[in-house]
Amino acid sequence: MKQQVRSPYLNDFEIERFQSNLIDWYKENHRKLPWRKTRDPYKIWVSEVMLQQTRVDTVIPYFNHFIDQFPTLRSLAEADEEKVLKAWEGLGYYSRIRNLQTAVKEVCENYNGQVPNTSKEISKLKGVGPYTAGAILSIAYNVPAPAVDGNVMRVLSRILFIKEDIAKAKTRTIFEEAASEMISISDPSSFNQALMELGALICTPKSPACLICPVQHYCRAFSEGLQNELPIKKKKLKIKEIDIGAIILRNKQGQYLIHKRPNEGLLANLWEFPNTPLLKRGKGSKEEIARFLEKEWGIQAKIGDYISNLDHVFSHLKWNIQIFEGELLSSFESNERTKLVTLEEMEAYPFPVSHQKIRKLAIEVVKETP
Ligand code: SF4
Repeated sequence: MKQQVRSPYLNDFEIERFQSNLIDWYKENHRKLPWRKTRDPYKIWVSEVMLQQTRVDTVIPYFNHFIDQFPTLRSLAEADEEKVLKAWEGLGYYSRIRNLQTAVKEVCENYNGQVPNTSKEISKLKGVGPYTAGAILSIAYNVPAPAVDGNVMRVLSRILFIKEDIAKAKTRTIFEEAASEMISISDPSSFNQALMELGALICTPKSPACLICPVQHYCRAFSEGLQNELPIKKKKLKIKEIDIGAIILRNKQGQYLIHKRPNEGLLANLWEFPNTPLLKRGKGSKEEIARFLEKEWGIQAKIGDYISNLDHVFSHLKWNIQIFEGELLSSFESNERTKLVTLEEMEAYPFPVSHQKIRKLAIEVVKETP
């Protein structure tokens, strides 16, 4: 039966032949990824959350390790937050894992541990946006729900010649409308994964491999010779930069001061070395760090050499971190959020990427100390 077409972009588009060409190609050519061996909605959910903002090659070992540690939805719901953050350490965008843990707890409480299989229910879970909902519903439950992320928007913008700015939030609706009409009713799982795989392997951002593309015949951008001009994505506003002074502060017993970030906001509850935004970059940094340590924890410290500089870019923000070493002169009692730990003990604490790098520097400094 022919589907009713509402999206203006699908006028004269051969939906059924397109679906079958795309799905046949996918079945022959898809990569064998660990999360493709399962229909378990929990595991698919974990993989989809990890894959947001992170490359497949990076995700594979994290996924395997995470599933070894938290093999079931209930095991993640009941896990200690610090252990979960540790398993996520290095993947970045930590709100993803925090939301996932909150959401699996909701699933245990409200759905008896079963990931819901309707768009209405699944979309209410914390952190589950339309893309993740569509991916889980289609892959785990074979529900014909579209799963539109940046990759799929790129592919569809070329195939359907959609020239709307994909940086605008409202543009997504245009793609979701088109995708929900294009999706195969009989095999939505393969259809959605095929579109994602096409974006990853063939219809890549910079140089789409149109000559070997399985859906070239349907691609309007290719027929116009404009595949490299799409998608349209206008530049975002400039990101804010902050200068930060951080210190690897060690006492005579070889312990280092680390502390836990606040419960909410950026990198919440992760551990880090003492650091403070700097008013003046360069000369005054040492004094500013010393004042910060005194004010924050009442401690005296000798601020030593400047060791290195480190830039860390978030989606909206850039940290320029100047790193110093120093010696803790006053005594300090560890408490729940601020601790003195050895380098070995530090291994057990989850750090964001920038402070993992500082931890590596601390190890190097110790090696070089005579
Ligand atoms: Fe992408 Fe080229 Fe295939 Fe069109 S023909 S979908 S631009 S790879």
